[in-house]
Amino acid sequence: MSLTDSDYGAYIDGSLRAGSSSESIANIDPSTGAAIADYIPCTEKDVDEAVVTAAAAFDDGRWRTLSPAAKSRAMQRLADLIEDNGDELARLESLESGKLHSAARNGEVPFAAECFRYHAGWCSKLEGSSKPLSMAPAGEFHAYTVREPVGVVGVITPYNGALVQTSWKLAPALAAGCTVVIKPDEKTPLSTLKLAELVVEAGIPPGVVNVVTGTGVTVGAAIVRHPAVRKISFTGSTETGKQIGKLALDDMKKVTLELGGKSPVIVLADADLDAAIAGATEAIFSNAGQVCVAGSRLYVEAAVYDDVVDGITARAESLRIGAANAPDTEVGPLISSAHRQNVLRAIRRGVDEGATLAAGGSSVDLDGGFYVEPTVLLDTRQSMEIVREEVFGPVLVASKAQDMQQCVRDGNDSRFGLAASIWTQNLGKAHRLAAEIKAGLVWVNCHGIPDMAVPFGGYKQSGWGRENGLEGLYEYTELKSVICKL
Ligand code: NAD
Repeated sequence: MSLTDSDYGAYIDGSLRAGSSSESIANIDPSTGAAIADYIPCTEKDVDEAVVTAAAAFDDGRWRTLSPAAKSRAMQRLADLIEDNGDELARLESLESGKLHSAARNGEVPFAAECFRYHAGWCSKLEGSSKPLSMAPAGEFHAYTVREPVGVVGVITPYNGALVQTSWKLAPALAAGCTVVIKPDEKTPLSTLKLAELVVEAGIPPGVVNVVTGTGVTVGAAIVRHPAVRKISFTGSTETGKQIGKLALDDMKKVTLELGGKSPVIVLADADLDAAIAGATEAIFSNAGQVCVAGSRLYVEAAVYDDVVDGITARAESLRIGAANAPDTEVGPLISSAHRQNVLRAIRRGVDEGATLAAGGSSVDLDGGFYVEPTVLLDTRQSMEIVREEVFGPVLVASKAQDMQQCVRDGNDSRFGLAASIWTQNLGKAHRLAAEIKAGLVWVNCHGIPDMAVPFGGYKQSGWGRENGLEGLYEYTELKSVICKL
């Protein structure tokens, strides 16, 4: 039976059920604008129940005190179950978010499974260290550190890739021994609820992972305010991240914030232009631009500017727009009608401010879905709103740079600092630029390749903390020091 045949809205203590709100939310398919199902979201009371459940599961040690080997095996089983249920997970993720089905099936699903496998390996490697005291004679003391799970973690995720965003948080939280309450975006609850069912099927005890659904201002904020939650791991917009950071400060919760971006793509004159054009096109139009690391600002050295923007413009115009589940679609819909309006408004404002529209610029009337043409704006200036603000849609702004130094200066001239890509065949220039770019992740001759082994997170207003790798795992731990007089 599919999730949408049941009442859904919460997954608490191992049971799927409706939330207790008096008002339902329509789960909409962005490819058609049609309702998938109505669901009953949660209230503050449900949040309290989920957090109390997670806190009890933490305190009684049903997960935390299992051997690392047992935790690791359960997480490996979860990875296998994600693969076994890959068709259903991909169907749900694509249906409610508008992500291309091929991307969900061949990207999100295996990536989520590998995320649990990767972190399963860390369960047995969370080590402390011994510390020789600096002010005592050798042999009088034994001092050491231990890594302990931080406690109940509140996970809040956005709509663009719920399965992977959740896995990036849930896998290290479980590896560290934490218990969790997850709130997916209200527009995309299904893949997270399905994942929670698989968690229990994998043998992770009920109550360790709980899901509440609903809007950010009610359910999300209730998680952040709850005194029994010790850490918030949030991915979403910079504006929401700031609100969460302020609220979490009240009782000094730990916070990881993975926020917005306006990532530059820098093409130097010596680049392999075919690769740079293909890469820059993919960097902005994949998932219809609804990607935190989308390469939304293009800076090209003057000598090759015309060739590069002509190439990208031609590709943008040839991309096939269509439903997320149609096999030949290359650009799917935006998440909602309201978001489409925001994207179109941003494009109009860019043109009003003097940018030249080279491709796209309009909505596409197709089956009632929320489509916008892949759009390229040229002759943009740093002061324009379209250059400064994240659009989170299929909109590229391009400008000509006199030299490499201007590429760096303009690339760094942003309140964001999530990612960047550099396209050059000169190794020295690549590393010099990588050192100068103020962003948490720099790609050279590629863009948008994440990996669980590589820390991910932003400089400046793109966030606090890191996900993935050992550094990401540590965000779910407290470090305790013990000094023992012998
Ligand atoms: P959003 O901030 O509106 O919503 C994200 C989540 O926060 C949703 O679950 C929402 O319900 C919840 N929320 C909203 N207000 C809240 C509040 N006051 N308290 C608690 N929770 C609240 O973001 P969005 O528009 O859905 O997602 C797109 C944004 O996410 C973009 O800015 C994008 O760059 C960013 N993003 C960042 C990363 C990253 O890893 N850095 C990854 C994906 C998306």
